[in-house]
Amino acid sequence: MTTPQAILRETFGLNAFRKGQEAIIEALLSGSDVLVIMPTGGGKSLCYQLPALLRGGVSLIVSPLISLMQDQVDALHRRRISATFINSALSVREQQQRLEGVKNGAYKLVYIAPERFRNARFLSALEGLAVSLFAVDEAHCISQWGHDFRPDYRLLGNAIERLGRPTVGAFTATATPEVQEDIARSLKLRDCRTFVTGFARPNLAFRITPTANRTEKLQRLSCLVEKHRTGIIYCATRKRVEEVAARLYGWDIAHVAYHGGIDDAERTRIQERFMEGKADVAVATNAFGMGIDRSDIRFVAHFEMPGSMEAYYQEAGRAGRDGQPAVCELLFNYQDKRVQEFFIEGSNPDEQTIRSVYALLHKLSGRDCAAICRSVDDLAMALGRSVNPMAVSSSLFLLSRMEVIERFDVPGQRIRGTRLRQPYLLPHDVPLDVRALECKQRHARERLEAVIRFANAFDCRQQWMLGYFGETDAAPCGDCDVCRSRSDPRQREPNEEEWLIVRKALSGVARMSWRGGRPEGWRPRWGKGRIMQMLLGSRDKTVLSAGLDRLSTYGLLKEYGESYVRALFREMERAGLVVSVRKDVFKPLLTLTSLGDTVMRDQTPFKMLWPARR
Ligand code: ADP
Ligand code: ZN
Repeated sequence: MTTPQAILRETFGLNAFRKGQEAIIEALLSGSDVLVIMPTGGGKSLCYQLPALLRGGVSLIVSPLISLMQDQVDALHRRRISATFINSALSVREQQQRLEGVKNGAYKLVYIAPERFRNARFLSALEGLAVSLFAVDEAHCISQWGHDFRPDYRLLGNAIERLGRPTVGAFTATATPEVQEDIARSLKLRDCRTFVTGFARPNLAFRITPTANRTEKLQRLSCLVEKHRTGIIYCATRKRVEEVAARLYGWDIAHVAYHGGIDDAERTRIQERFMEGKADVAVATNAFGMGIDRSDIRFVAHFEMPGSMEAYYQEAGRAGRDGQPAVCELLFNYQDKRVQEFFIEGSNPDEQTIRSVYALLHKLSGRDCAAICRSVDDLAMALGRSVNPMAVSSSLFLLSRMEVIERFDVPGQRIRGTRLRQPYLLPHDVPLDVRALECKQRHARERLEAVIRFANAFDCRQQWMLGYFGETDAAPCGDCDVCRSRSDPRQREPNEEEWLIVRKALSGVARMSWRGGRPEGWRPRWGKGRIMQMLLGSRDKTVLSAGLDRLSTYGLLKEYGESYVRALFREMERAGLVVSVRKDVFKPLLTLTSLGDTVMRDQTPFKMLWPARR
């Protein structure tokens, strides 16, 4: 009997399974459907390739990455595994020949592009095949909530039925619980086992540094660059990339700047310079990184918060691929959220915007249905001043995905042309799924909210992140800013004056919280900002009109100044004396923890980091 271990060694030439792989393979071999969430590079392909060899019949693998199919098949051939691929880049004749081969049992593994399942002839040709395993790679493409929805993936559930319901494995690097549910529903997975594994990156030290402004960020950045040398600095916008890169000139470090506004040839050159080690630092937007496998990256800094934890994990995860220690630092400022919100609005146009874009195209193409050669900016201008060009571009993308319009390259120009595919379709008849549009936008906002929760949490960063991806059995990493602050030897008990300050601050929080509830304790009522204003004796309109100046704690910490009080609150939160509670998505409200309550009352000893007094 051949065992998975034997095949691992003999056919794949590997010594041991990685965490999770063996259990996934066992599950598939026993005929269970599986949903596997494993990061990129984690070793998903082995999880379906190996069972494919142990089971009779053929295994089909659906993958959207047509350009990689040839490489994958070549790699299998090198291991003497019979495999092929079928996609529409092949001639019809070639496709037919390969299908014949599949029927005759010439292959153990066949990669298939999802759009093939649109073709009825193709589907019926597959019927009657002895398919032992149906693997869906990049399975998040099934879900509209994912970031990479591909309508053809919706056809796979039906295809699986028609194939006589083989064992199904769905594989992806990212899937929130909703996306997981969507995958399971769409593929009609049966008593499916879900595996989330391999996300831990023990050699990465995650750090979130609250920063009040750009100057602070640049200071922090210069420390990082000086200390760690080789790294990537991610910025949210092209403009910021250029600003930060300009600073690096002054710091005398070989660097490159990279963003989507640079033309393709130049971008390739820039990537190569970085890959070959001719530059130490890359300042870039998130366009940078596809195919970056420089393994000695010692730091990844985020100048602004990313739009999702998925993006953060992927970008930060480019650090320390060689397994040596590396640092991932997020320079956090709540205000930066606006930039991400702007992107969310741009990539999620509302119904009215989409219809007006279509109406404009309809008008421009006229009675003779002429092709329209106008840039996105032009179209946005024609729609009015307040229209975000990014929303126009997203509308064009949606309309072309619905096959209402068609986009084509204009020779010799950087713009793309547009043609109506259904000239008789009137703007108000474009069949938009408004609910789906709204849901997608809401999910994008929720993904952004998760980033803010991550930054504000006082849990181990690595543990929090793994929990977010569904890996809930992780221990604290010991190396992130939160873990380090817990064991920070600089933590100490307060001196007499600090005692007084903390108790004043806590009394202020208590005055501005509700008492009671179940379990007995404190419930939040006000945000941290207002509480600090009250303690600092602010004359702010809201503070006065709410009568906060009449509280006995009003102005109690005035003499210490705002920046000290702000730092004090941060450390009190870190020490677990107060806690932020998120009632609605935008405003965290602050209240006492039970530790804070006892400290306020009867001076239980406690330790924390003490901000410097100026
Ligand atoms: P994914 O599809 O999850 O992005 P791959 O399946 O392409 O990742 O695997 C990434 C790399 O890890 C490949 O080079 C593969 O050979 C290697 N790999 C996978 N499993 C193991 C293992 N058990 N031991 C050593 N290397 C492995
Ligand atoms: Zn930690």
